[in-house]
Amino acid sequence: MTTDRVFNFSAGPAVLPVEVVQELREGVLDLDSTGIGILEHSHRSDVIVELFQDTELRVRTIADVPDDYEVLFLSGGASTQFFMVPMNVVDTSDLCEFVITGPWSQKALVEAQRFAATRVIASGADDAFRRLPEIHRQSDITTYLHYTSNETIYGTQFRSVPMQAEIVVCDACSDLFTRPISISEYGVVYASAQKNLGVAGISLVIIRKDLIEAGCYSIPAMLQYRTHRDANSRFNTPPVFAVFALNRMLRWIQRLGGLPAMAQRNREKSELLYQSIDSSQWFTGFADSDSRSQVTVTFTTGQNAADDRFVKLAQQNGLVNLRGHRSSGGLRASLYNSVSIEAVEALVAAMGEFEDLYPKPLQ
Ligand SMILES: *Cc1c(COP(=O)(O)O)cnc(C)c1O
Repeated sequence: MTTDRVFNFSAGPAVLPVEVVQELREGVLDLDSTGIGILEHSHRSDVIVELFQDTELRVRTIADVPDDYEVLFLSGGASTQFFMVPMNVVDTSDLCEFVITGPWSQKALVEAQRFAATRVIASGADDAFRRLPEIHRQSDITTYLHYTSNETIYGTQFRSVPMQAEIVVCDACSDLFTRPISISEYGVVYASAQKNLGVAGISLVIIRKDLIEAGCYSIPAMLQYRTHRDANSRFNTPPVFAVFALNRMLRWIQRLGGLPAMAQRNREKSELLYQSIDSSQWFTGFADSDSRSQVTVTFTTGQNAADDRFVKLAQQNGLVNLRGHRSSGGLRASLYNSVSIEAVEALVAAMGEFEDLYPKPLQ
């Protein structure tokens, strides 16, 4: 099974550790010797109830989630949290402040505008999103601040929470559990699973209990956090397979040493790749060095034809999904939790091979 797998740098859905894929394969056939596969079990059966409990416990252990926070598994991806958060926790009179670091935070802003007054307090647009904007506090009464911790298209990442507020809302879709996190700094932090935590179908949402309590009642039940809290994320038929995949990814993270080990791995991988970019004649990084992400590495040769040729050479070496997002162009390597150091070493070797083969500029 392992022999024909390639090195996959996709931004999402992303590569999974092969051990995890093997566990998922077994679970599809027969979950925990029940004689029924994960896709065929009732979401009310004991084995699935236990799976959800075990998954929540692992999230709590790995991230040291305080007791006054709820852990929810919700469908609809991070894109659903863009509107679910403001629908629940915002009063129409509240002002929501946004830090814009690229298309994802812009999308979150557009959704929030349907339900609340919003203000952009910082934006990287003037720098073409190459660097994180400086954030100047405009008032002391900020109750709600939204930001994107890792910009998955441009490759910038906040090292820490950029500003304090009563309710900090963080779209951590592409870097949740890639490094230690202090949950008590957030009101809500969310991520879709298909980047660092398994497969598409659910978002992991960690939310302060008082925000659920105070939440709006005049919206559909499916959109109220309390509905999912009261039903332990099994209000309707949930994507059970995605919770299973999350469970097995969390076990894998724990086996490797938890979030400090993830941070160490991700630092090593990104340093290796950035060093190779910085010492290269051909490649340059897109993001400014002090704004660079440890999980989304954006770079380019500066020439479309040369980028294309590198993508082709990489593919011949078994390295795939290195093209930048369709809106930004260039090259991108996503170095999520499951990406191995060997994959990055192979990428660096391919970059070296490219430099040896082609004199610059490309003729
Ligand atoms: C991928 C991504 C999203 C969207 O996630 P979906 O699961 O497709 O809704 C949102 N924000 C960021 C930062 C992302 O990387």
